Amino acid sequence: MGKLPSPDEVTAVAEKVLKLYDGVYFNPTEDKKLIGPVIADEIKKFNASLEKGLKEIEKINVIDGKIAFDLYQSYGMPVEISRELFLEKGQVIDQKTFMDAFAVHRNLSRSASAGKFKGGLADSSEQTIKYHTATHLLHQALFDVLGKDVRQEGSNITGERLRFDFYHTQKPTVEELEKIAEVVNEKISQALPVEFKLIPKQEAEKLGAKSFFREKYPDMVKVYFVGDYSKEFCGGPHVKNTSEIKSFTIIKCEKIGNNLFRIYAK
Ligand SMILES: [Zn+2]
Repeated sequence: MGKLPSPDEVTAVAEKVLKLYDGVYFNPTEDKKLIGPVIADEIKKFNASLEKGLKEIEKINVIDGKIAFDLYQSYGMPVEISRELFLEKGQVIDQKTFMDAFAVHRNLSRSASAGKFKGGLADSSEQTIKYHTATHLLHQALFDVLGKDVRQEGSNITGERLRFDFYHTQKPTVEELEKIAEVVNEKISQALPVEFKLIPKQEAEKLGAKSFFREKYPDMVKVYFVGDYSKEFCGGPHVKNTSEIKSFTIIKCEKIGNNLFRIYAK
């Protein structure tokens, strides 16, 4: 099996790509600070997963396309690597069975995502919808208070609290967190309407609507507007007016990775 590139090698390539798009899609100075840590983190996750996959492969005596697909889906094991490893054991992975399993999975996940918005919501109770809408305000407030290098990494909402992960170059100070909460509460008390528009992706990007940078979006996207304060690609569900959120308190902020922070709030 060929050697995987090191984080530094990938970062060097990414920096070249950034240079090509300077000022078009990226903020060259701010994004450069983040690109190294994000890539290192992805490679670490990929390697850990690959290692588990390799251990699984050792246990398998007879391979077929379906098992190769399971390895791909569970461990991100590229089928090319599985093919090479099983060839060493004198076994050939049937491409057609692999592609069939792949097609079945793709159709299943397409119909699942067409049916509902997940977005890290544990359920769709009134409280989780309030918390989810609050993440839109929090996202924009993080931008306003900490700076434009903030990148959302993900969120998770339960009936008890919201959780929001984001990349930033340093941990927010207590004063910054207080300011962020103050801004969110101000927007709640302004009773801003929450509305969406279904518009072409390019138009949404031109508007500067925030998107989740890992996600691949379709050509037409739903953009949620919270008054004129926040614009974000999102599938819903949301409250109709920020006044419904009532209040917002940051419980804690912790470092969970390289330049990666997690806020708990309710
Ligand atoms: Zn949303």
